[in-house]
Amino acid sequence: MNCSFRIFIDTRPGAPPNAFQTLDNQGRPVIVFTQSMVQTARNADELAFVMSHEAAHHIEGHLARVNRDAALGAIVLGQLVGLSGGGASAVDAATQLGGLVGSRTFSKDYELEADRLGTVIAARAGYNPLVGVQFFERIPDPGNQFLGTHPPNAQRSELVRQTARSIGFNG
Ligand SMILES: [Zn+2]
Repeated sequence: MNCSFRIFIDTRPGAPPNAFQTLDNQGRPVIVFTQSMVQTARNADELAFVMSHEAAHHIEGHLARVNRDAALGAIVLGQLVGLSGGGASAVDAATQLGGLVGSRTFSKDYELEADRLGTVIAARAGYNPLVGVQFFERIPDPGNQFLGTHPPNAQRSELVRQTARSIGFNG
């Protein structure tokens, strides 16, 4: 697996604090931080945890899995509308909606998977994931909404604590 990450900082003014993982057109993994994300991090542990979390998304193949889930959701919803007698435009609309529902309902699990592996990566790289996860505790808690793309902050913190304990990391 190609884990030779390219790291970019998005310096466009006004971009909100954000980090994401993608692939460049040669298939090389890329992690992008916005400048405000870097400035919002209070210490190296927080930045390392976010980077480890994004690297974990790549290692766990989440991009490909989200695309597959989205395609599956779109097909299922599109078929349901087709069966209920919706016209072509209703099928198109439902296929788009299904794509969104498919990708969003799965991504909460993916976020927790990325937190778990990210905890291991950050700890082995010499950073403190228990301090690092506090970055997520400072951002607004998305709660437990059906379509929420992120798990509740308390759930993430607890998972990081459990994972750190399971690998013998004591801070
Ligand atoms: Zn994530």
